[in-house]
Amino acid sequence: MSDTAPRRLRALGEIPVSQLRHIGPKRTEALASLGLDTVLDLLTLYPRRYIDRTRRVDLSDLVVGEEAAVFGEVRLSSSRRTRQGKSLVDVSVVDGGETLKVSFFNQPWRGAQLVPGVQAIFFGKVSDFRGTRQMTNPVVDVVVGASGDERDASRVGGIVALYPASGKAGVTSWEMGGFIEESLKRAGPLLDPLSEELRRDHSLVDRTAAFWGIHLPTEMADVSPARRRLVFDEFLRLQLLLALRRRRLEESSSGVRHPFDEHDLDISPGSLRDEGSSLVRQFLAAHRFALTGAQRRVLHEIGRDMASALPMHRLLQGDVGSGKTVVALATLLMSIDGGRQGAFMAPTEVLAEQHAAALRADVTGLRVADPAVLGGERDVVVQLLTGRVKGKERQAALDALAKGGIDIVVGTHALLTDDVRFASLGAVVIDEQHRFGVEQRAVLRDKGRAHSEEALDPDLLVMTATPIPRTAAMVVFGDLDRSVLDEMPAGRRTIATSWSRAPLEVEAAWQRVRDEVAQGRRAYVICPLVEESERVEATSAVAERTRLATNELRGLSVGLLHGQMKSLEKDEVMAQFRAGEIQVLVATVVIEVGVDVAQASVIVIEDAWRFGLAQLHQLRGRVGRGDVQSYCYLLGEAPSADGVDRLEALVNSNDGFALAEIDLDLRGEGTLLGARQRGRSDLRLANLRRDEEILNEARVVALEMVARDALSAHAELMDELRLFVDDEEAQYLFRS
Ligand code: ADP
Ligand code: MG
Repeated sequence: MSDTAPRRLRALGEIPVSQLRHIGPKRTEALASLGLDTVLDLLTLYPRRYIDRTRRVDLSDLVVGEEAAVFGEVRLSSSRRTRQGKSLVDVSVVDGGETLKVSFFNQPWRGAQLVPGVQAIFFGKVSDFRGTRQMTNPVVDVVVGASGDERDASRVGGIVALYPASGKAGVTSWEMGGFIEESLKRAGPLLDPLSEELRRDHSLVDRTAAFWGIHLPTEMADVSPARRRLVFDEFLRLQLLLALRRRRLEESSSGVRHPFDEHDLDISPGSLRDEGSSLVRQFLAAHRFALTGAQRRVLHEIGRDMASALPMHRLLQGDVGSGKTVVALATLLMSIDGGRQGAFMAPTEVLAEQHAAALRADVTGLRVADPAVLGGERDVVVQLLTGRVKGKERQAALDALAKGGIDIVVGTHALLTDDVRFASLGAVVIDEQHRFGVEQRAVLRDKGRAHSEEALDPDLLVMTATPIPRTAAMVVFGDLDRSVLDEMPAGRRTIATSWSRAPLEVEAAWQRVRDEVAQGRRAYVICPLVEESERVEATSAVAERTRLATNELRGLSVGLLHGQMKSLEKDEVMAQFRAGEIQVLVATVVIEVGVDVAQASVIVIEDAWRFGLAQLHQLRGRVGRGDVQSYCYLLGEAPSADGVDRLEALVNSNDGFALAEIDLDLRGEGTLLGARQRGRSDLRLANLRRDEEILNEARVVALEMVARDALSAHAELMDELRLFVDDEEAQYLFRS
């Protein structure tokens, strides 16, 4: 407390919690179990809610039937069993002389938790019990426990911050508040890495005020500016990291200058095939459809990147069915036009195989120069490389790849193994990115660099399976440029989606399957998601197939696809389904992404509520890929409010971009950021929906700082960034 020099966050991260008063070995351990080891950890544990004790709610004013939060002190508590044998704990809560009756069913432990003297918040629906206000099974936040709370109670009466996860380790919110209050006092004035000018321009309070304001507001009006500043800091750090990552990449690499001619894209199918022209042009001229405006625009963006000496790092977003694959192929052909190879990475074997087959068909007739063969020219070669390609076949493929006898390699993770070498890798397309991390991108890039003579980086195109909201893209893919396919191929019809709950509605769904099949079309049935294991899921899929084949879908040819099948079997099944020998495919979510069978016109998703919104949209995208009317049936009740929201959203919208926004609302950002951000760089306070404006501001500031090379003037900020990345990345980003 005696120090006068303002402290850096780093210094706070070096003070163990055990140095605080009232924290002995036992509490140190309890806090450690919550991931709280240092004063910095405590200060960045932000309140979940506040109660304003200056404003008492008049209990009699509570509206019956509405939700409310009531703060009060427990006076009486009794436990008993009801006649049905349920445990019942009744508690009387007093606030300003008035009483609220709170009942808990099947929560016997409430008896020990809510003893007289405990002060807590009760959040729930208000009902009326013979003139007394009542709540049943409300959410409870204990603010002041019955004993062991040494925190000075003199502050009670103002605004109290409530902290999360306080119950788990036996630390009450009140105690936590005490530790944090002491941390703030110990910390003293905090060093502010942002200049006064910057703070003024962006209406940001200083850092010390921000930490005090969020944890110990004197009035509710203190919270919002405090939060704004802290959120800005979180975004700024993250955006600086992304901008730096990008900057380093550009400095440390040079890309291939692929030949690219804008006019090659202005060609429609049926144009005369000009043997002398580029592969891209020949390909488009022979293709079965003309590009949409969006595909053409995106290919221009990609082409410019490909032609530039900076390696491309581009994210391609497009809704399900918007036609990303043809963009990918054209990109790979641009690389081959320059005498180099292309790699296409898919998340599953089924997809890799589908892409390989489609690509092979698409490049038929295209020839490339190859001095190693007779005549100096040969067909474009597409090779599949998955875990399944083994032994001699694999060795032969690897040799050809290393010598340049293969132009496009399509594979899964198997492409990342050490023995995969390229003669000259010019472009990499990663499909359905959400399953691959940043690390894998780097491995592929290095393969291009290590094995080409000039050590040039291949161009990289990352495609997402379903759209993600703009804000999330800025955070998760902020180091990539963005291209968006915002137009569907002509003739697409909205997939008619219904949520079928009543037996008659369910019967109508199966009737539709039979009708569509009778017209020569195909159907998918997606089995319930089983959480425990793939094996259990497979078993239930097998059972469901048998059930359907003998009941609702008797007489139809019903096939099966699940994750426990050998890849050869999976192939076989997919081939039969494509060919129409299998009419209905009962599948687990292995079918989720990318699978493209144009004749499929109906999909039935069982127990639909179990799937996430993006996943449902992706599943639905398996149909409606041609120009016939397609149908999606969501079966089953949704036992949670969330589930209802998801299914209703799906019924009401076919627009993946809109659904992505809703999904972000429903799920929060945690899942989105999950794999990507390690260590401390997680956004703790920021909310991508609510704080979009702050994100935009922070991004602009970060980009400017990096572009102007102004970071050396912000030594404190740089020092702080290091706190939030691991050592390896720090070495890469901050070496001078
Ligand atoms: P996704 O973006 O979901 O990967 P695909 O690339 O699989 O979509 O394309 C979906 C379907 O639309 C495919 O059957 C594809 O052949 C077709 N398609 C793509 N682009 C066009 C276009 N410009 N005109 C007509 N059909 C197209
Ligand atoms: Mg696709």
